[in-house]
Amino acid sequence: MDYKECGARATALRRQLESQGARLVAVSKFHPTEAIMSAYDGGQRDFGENRAVEFAKKARELPDDIVWHFLGHLQTNKVRMIMPHVSLIHSVDSDRLLRLIESEAARIGRTVDVLLQVHVAREETKFGFTPEELTEYVKELPQLPHVRIRGLMAMASNVDDTERVTDDFSRVRQVYDQLRQGAMAANPDFDTLSMGMSHDWPLAVAQGSNVVRIGTAIFGEREY
Ligand SMILES: *Cc1c(COP(=O)(O)O)cnc(C)c1O
Repeated sequence: MDYKECGARATALRRQLESQGARLVAVSKFHPTEAIMSAYDGGQRDFGENRAVEFAKKARELPDDIVWHFLGHLQTNKVRMIMPHVSLIHSVDSDRLLRLIESEAARIGRTVDVLLQVHVAREETKFGFTPEELTEYVKELPQLPHVRIRGLMAMASNVDDTERVTDDFSRVRQVYDQLRQGAMAANPDFDTLSMGMSHDWPLAVAQGSNVVRIGTAIFGEREY
């Protein structure tokens, strides 16, 4: 892999997304710091990781002005590890996790932004609140002085069927709009809808996504 291409690809995607009102998170999981720095040198600042250990290591080693996003399922025993570095946690999928994020943020004296993850994909088990669970949950949100709930994150069904993917994104958009007009109306920070990956981001943006998480289309295939 020629890392120089990562920089050019990230820049092109970022400009394209910006012109459509969406922000690019470059998903660098499993890719080396050289790849990240190529995108960084092209002006990319938002990067996403989904494993706590890898996240913390990269955040310690790389420039301080990188805005770090955490994307994957976050185990409660890993919250402390990411807390000093993370700007936005996209994957809050339980009340327990949200309360733990609050207490860890309070412990180190900071405030952290989070998204609640919505489960709409109709295949295998994925993490997140169903739209119904979420609607109930936000009605009785606990007091969280060190957490700002910024919006929602979701993944669509991993299928080639454009209609079905669009339908998944559209359901999340509806929940997002309902919350903005209802339970979260008093919360001006609730402004973020994180949807779309390498293969489906145009469909997500068409449904109102304003944060897109792209890995493969920038950095190439991951080696697991
Ligand atoms: C890996 C990952 C992405 C990026 O996926 P690509 O298909 O490589 O663009 C986006 N969101 C989440 C939650 C991820 O784990």
